[in-house]
Amino acid sequence: MEKIRMTTPIVEMDGDEMTRVLWSEIKDALIHPYIDLKTEYYDLSLQNRNMTRDKVTAESAEATKKYGVAVKCATITPNKQRMEEFPELTEMWPSANATIRSILDGTVFRTPIMLDRIKPAVKTWEKPITIARHAYGDIYKAVEMITTEPGECTMTFKGASGAEQQISVQKTKGPAIWLAQHNNDASIRSFARSCFEYALGTKQDLWFSTKDTISKIYDGHFKTVFDEEYAQYKERFAQTGIEYFYTLIDDAVARVIRSKGGFIWACKNYDGDVMSDMVSTAFGSLAMMTSILVSPDGKYEYEAAHGTVTRHYYRYLKGEKPSTNPIAIIFAWTGALRKRGELDGLAQLSDFADRLENACYSTLNDGIMTADLAALVEPAAPADLAALATSASPGFVPVSVDSWKFIESVAARL
Ligand code: NAP
Ligand code: MG
Repeated sequence: MEKIRMTTPIVEMDGDEMTRVLWSEIKDALIHPYIDLKTEYYDLSLQNRNMTRDKVTAESAEATKKYGVAVKCATITPNKQRMEEFPELTEMWPSANATIRSILDGTVFRTPIMLDRIKPAVKTWEKPITIARHAYGDIYKAVEMITTEPGECTMTFKGASGAEQQISVQKTKGPAIWLAQHNNDASIRSFARSCFEYALGTKQDLWFSTKDTISKIYDGHFKTVFDEEYAQYKERFAQTGIEYFYTLIDDAVARVIRSKGGFIWACKNYDGDVMSDMVSTAFGSLAMMTSILVSPDGKYEYEAAHGTVTRHYYRYLKGEKPSTNPIAIIFAWTGALRKRGELDGLAQLSDFADRLENACYSTLNDGIMTADLAALVEPAAPADLAALATSASPGFVPVSVDSWKFIESVAARL
């Protein structure tokens, strides 16, 4: 066949360890044969980030601003242990994701990839629930203090003009603990816009929740900013047939559990931290979560939510063929290709993304899957294989394969 042509490049951010190995396997087996792939390539491996003094990370983010669509492989965030593992590192470089997120001023949207045969822990959920987490401020940038004697704590703001604002936090009769947190109006506005953009892009309702009945000024301001920004989106929401709706966080939790799914839930930083772990666990597996960074002006970076799968990589280095699930990485590519197709008016490219995802689903429906999924699907593999061989209609039988076999099986169906 003639390969599908692209007009604008996708920013390609390569990464580390097992996900880097799978990255090139996926491109070779599933993308290059069909697409005349145009990417602007950035090597975000730890080695290259170190060699470029992390300039490559900032450059890849700038390129995403320019082209609008990026796809990223998981990368190592160095810690003390990694510094020992890679003695050549000159600095403990910051998380590449954090650097990219701050340059794009973006919000992360996490969505599970659902399978008929893996039932979510919540019976009513039929469609994925996407969590959007505000990634700036609140307790993550708070200051804390412990005191031992009676007294009073006050909070003072000193304006650049010299004007001061002061309030009493509390008088205490004994030992006490204190915390002061903040957020910026600009950051909340960017968060709101990213959420409205993403809701429009995916044609899903947007829910937002805080505790503004108790925190009337702080959480109240989040609600106000969302309302103000929504004014610019209201018409497009109506045209698209989607809704924005605000409710208290406790009411949201109850509604989410009773819902069928299929919406975006925007959360403040802490709520998003906790709820994204709860929702992803309830949907099944970290290896089936996609993660999309969206900037307030509608630039998109697609990736798998999981890390570099270090344990599998060390087995791979010893010559084993691990059964690492490549689906979230494949879906990062399909997400980027589909978006590129939409932006450039290339229906063939978006159509290819659908076909590749369908090839993954059909492979899984035929029972071919990596070990993590084989352990979750229903019905499970029978304990007695001999009995199965003689059974008249064995039906669905999950077979656990390594990553290479899985990718081959997807390629065959594609
Ligand atoms: P991880 O790479 O997500 O892996 C944790 C465990 O989850 C694995 O050992 C594996 O369990 C399971 N798992 C994750 N993805 C899987 C997949 N695709 N298929 C099958 N099983 C999968 O997290 P980590 O071990 O905490 O972190 C490793 C490195 O990744 C760290 O250096 C961290 O900095 C980096 N990281 C990067 C990103 C990113 O770039 N977005 C995100 C998170 C972490 P079993 O071993 O039990 O099979
Ligand atoms: Mg968390």
